[in-house]
Amino acid sequence: MAKYKLEYIWLDGYEPVANLRGKTNVKDFDTFPTLEQLPLWGFDGSSTRQAEGHSSDCVLKPVAVYPDATKTNGALVMCEVLMPDGSPHPSNARASILDDPDAWFGFEQEYFLYKDGVPLGFPLGGGYPPPQGEYYTGVGYKNVGDIAREIVDTHLELCLYAGINHEGINAEVAKGQWEFQIFGKGSKTAADQMWIARYLLLRLTEQYGVDVNWHCKPLGMDVDWNGSGMHCNFSTKHLREVGGKEYFEALMAAFDKYKNEHIAVYGPDNHMRLTGLHETQSIDKFNYGVANRGASVRVPHSFVNNGYRGYLEDRRPNSQGDPYKIASRVLQTIATVPTK
Ligand code: ADP
Ligand code: MN
Ligand code: MN
Ligand code: MN
Repeated sequence: MAKYKLEYIWLDGYEPVANLRGKTNVKDFDTFPTLEQLPLWGFDGSSTRQAEGHSSDCVLKPVAVYPDATKTNGALVMCEVLMPDGSPHPSNARASILDDPDAWFGFEQEYFLYKDGVPLGFPLGGGYPPPQGEYYTGVGYKNVGDIAREIVDTHLELCLYAGINHEGINAEVAKGQWEFQIFGKGSKTAADQMWIARYLLLRLTEQYGVDVNWHCKPLGMDVDWNGSGMHCNFSTKHLREVGGKEYFEALMAAFDKYKNEHIAVYGPDNHMRLTGLHETQSIDKFNYGVANRGASVRVPHSFVNNGYRGYLEDRRPNSQGDPYKIASRVLQTIATVPTK
């Protein structure tokens, strides 16, 4: 028997963006626990905007477990929040995702690292560093500073150790801005892993006195500094194996029809980012285009060359979007289109 430190992690009830919360449960196990071995737990929902004070118990139901590289016998336990009667809490968007083991998602998370109220590398007394140009995929102190590389590389190691299917990282267009990508098979897999990856980044940066700024346009919309997105690449078995131009066009018509419903869950303040500038389409329009980074949905060349089969990239979700809500909405819209 060994003492395992189980970090139960969940999303709170803050609007429009939930915060990650976590608390540690120490339990004895012979080996690294499976999901089935992890008990339900509870917390005080009145402290997380998930309950009233007089009836404050909420239930944590483990839904995924990952090794925690930072501890001996540590585990990161992603949880759904349930009501005392076992039904999903209203804040629990994960419960609304259609179960589909053949749905694949790839999320590209962009974010800024902030220190002392400004992006890493911005002058402290106000003002701006040299304009955008060399920062994207850049190297060297003048482009990425001195601690960002250590943070993003360590984050990658922590994610890989946890078994998160982290696919890559890159320095982004703005100074202090970075990206990582996560891919997962199964309708909830990539979204679970994205929340754990966000958790690991937030926890890691504590020791540097650095905050992660997930806002989609942290420098405002009047300056020539890029915002942050979380492009959502998706495919279903039908899209990958059957596809076809007719199905694709029907699917895009459904995305057009439900454009407002999509934008509603694609992250707050997206009007600041989806302006038609900086490789975006404006928020009130829906369009798609082959290899078009100014479109709402980018259709990879490979998709067309393959007989309209493969994956599509919805470029509208922003960096603060909840991958659970995004995956849920994408699959809901896909489900409205007959596959014959
Ligand atoms: P870009 O920055 O050019 O948009 P990235 O390489 O950052 O490209 O992201 C592409 C994303 O597409 C990755 O997250 C990858 O996992 C995802 N992806 C690739 N193939 C599929 C697929 N069949 N279904 C869903 N997502 C996919
Ligand atoms: Mn990318
Ligand atoms: Mn990017
Ligand atoms: Mn992309």
